Amino acid sequence: MDMKIIKSEKRICSCCMEEHEVKTVLVMDQATFKNSTVDYEASYFFCELAEELYMDEQQMQDNDIRLKDTYRKKEGLLTSAQIGEIRAKYGISQSDLCLLLGWGGKTITRYESHQVQDKAHDTILKKINQDPEWFLSLLNGAKANLSAESRMFLVKK
Ligand SMILES: [Zn+2]
Repeated sequence: MDMKIIKSEKRICSCCMEEHEVKTVLVMDQATFKNSTVDYEASYFFCELAEELYMDEQQMQDNDIRLKDTYRKKEGLLTSAQIGEIRAKYGISQSDLCLLLGWGGKTITRYESHQVQDKAHDTILKKINQDPEWFLSLLNGAKANLSAESRMFLVKK
């Protein structure tokens, strides 16, 4: 098996329960996601005594994102990190971007982690990246919405 060692640390190994050098390694894994076979690099711990690969909760989470990001690249979708970069470029928070686009409040947060965006949403995010003027017009539109809501709130009071 092809293993890329990225870290080695002497500690209690939760595979064999002995203290020894536990290596953190990257290996190619294969998974099926949305009917697509995805080969991706997954992170594991390696126990040399038992010759076994295992992972902890954090790696399980990370590997799921690695799988989804590889799938996104394969399908020509933005990766979770790229969505974060677009947002950073405009200095807008996850929830404010959702507000601008009329999406559910946690949509961008989910897209920047485990949830793979659909094609339509992906196209909109790419358009924001390439078209600052369009983004600005959305921003103006949202400002109008906000003040309208505030006005309604005042009338109710
Ligand atoms: Zn071990």
